[in-house]
Amino acid sequence: MWVRLPLAIQFICDTMSCMKRSELFTKTFKNVSGEETSRNAQLLLRAGYIHKELAGVYTYLPLGLKVLENIKKIIREEMNAVGGQEALMTTLQNKELWETTNRWDSKKMDIWFKTDLAAGGQLGLAPTHEEPITAMMTQHIASYKDLPRYVYQFQTKFRNELRAKSGVMRTREFLMKDMYSFSKDKAQHEEFYEKTIKAYHKVYERLGIGDITYKTFASGGVFSKYSHEFQTICPAGEDVVYMNKDHSLVFNEEVFTDDILAEFGAKKTDFAPEKAAEVGNIFSLGFKYAEPLGLEYSTKEDAKKTVYMGCYGIGVSRLMGVMVEIFADEKGLVWADNVAPFQVYLVGIGDVDKEVVELYDELTKKGVEVLFDDRADARTGEKMADADLLGVPYRVVVSEKSLAEGKVELKKRTGSTPQLLTKSQLFDKMKVRC
Ligand code: ATP
Ligand code: MG
Repeated sequence: MWVRLPLAIQFICDTMSCMKRSELFTKTFKNVSGEETSRNAQLLLRAGYIHKELAGVYTYLPLGLKVLENIKKIIREEMNAVGGQEALMTTLQNKELWETTNRWDSKKMDIWFKTDLAAGGQLGLAPTHEEPITAMMTQHIASYKDLPRYVYQFQTKFRNELRAKSGVMRTREFLMKDMYSFSKDKAQHEEFYEKTIKAYHKVYERLGIGDITYKTFASGGVFSKYSHEFQTICPAGEDVVYMNKDHSLVFNEEVFTDDILAEFGAKKTDFAPEKAAEVGNIFSLGFKYAEPLGLEYSTKEDAKKTVYMGCYGIGVSRLMGVMVEIFADEKGLVWADNVAPFQVYLVGIGDVDKEVVELYDELTKKGVEVLFDDRADARTGEKMADADLLGVPYRVVVSEKSLAEGKVELKKRTGSTPQLLTKSQLFDKMKVRC
């Protein structure tokens, strides 16, 4: 049996990762509706990654979904590495549960989407999941032996946002990774909190935005003076952060006061403002939800104690928009290798049908993710423009001219000069992701 396993892996890789452009259902567009003012959404719409349903409501098409899945894969690996266990909770929410914590009332939480049940009563569409996960864990945590626990999910959240002008960076329906930690006490919680900060830095590093994403002090709550946001410096971001010269201290403008700075031995003149996008937010919740929802455990000595909680969010779909804003250029999208939907955009020029199909098959067999622009009715110029617009990291061109030298042409999306390579040189350069 063991010899068959690599074949099975290869098969999954082949069927999911490579695609002929003529079979891909999305199209590219020269222009998008003037209503769409955000650059990330304009480019993603033009490149056929997303479809706009309504203001602040977007569908992810195959290309967009692949990017989201690649972002999720990186986050999942890092959350698993700190001991997270993945679950998937419900979108529909129980009104009574949220009444217990006083968050059902739309005056308390103004972003609810609520709906009437045909059988009578009301449900809500989850804007976040503290209440249901805390209530659920009362059935899974009883003793100190059940702690700590770290549970996360990738889930669609619904928020009735007032503004929806930032494309996929702020939507009314969006994909979030939310993790919740359940610890015995503050000390155990803090250890995990610090570990998660490191894991978050790794995530942003792997997404190619590590050098411009900063842990930022933001307003806290009853159980902690601050929460921590992860802010990516980005002109299209909706937040303003203040950074000192060596970027070792970053504050959200909401906590940027003389008193707070004094605690850090700093003063306002040491800092400069920057526009930023919040791509993550972590919070020490303490007993805020565990107490009203009765999440307790018994200690070794058989005493009852309340579970100490934390929550850790990452805006998965927002990250996709942020990456567009940061990396795209005048020709279109640019993706980091780690998140790109394909590694190679393959084009044949002239009478090379046989050779280009052969190369497509060879790359596919090697596990390289290829989008082969096999469209018979598209001109070479259109194919080259699409290769740029889609932002695939490498473009490979097979032409009569290159074949005459026994070579193919490789160009990096971000580079200007193509290289002529033999096929084996090309294979050596291509990364296999799956
Ligand atoms: P913001 O301050 O941007 O409104 P938030 O503080 O309400 O966000 P959290 O509840 O902490 O956000 O959610 C976790 C993460 O989800 C955020 O850090 C952000 O990256 C992302 N996020 C929040 N709201 C949206 C939205 N409307 N559309 C897309 N992503 C969002
Ligand atoms: Mg925020």
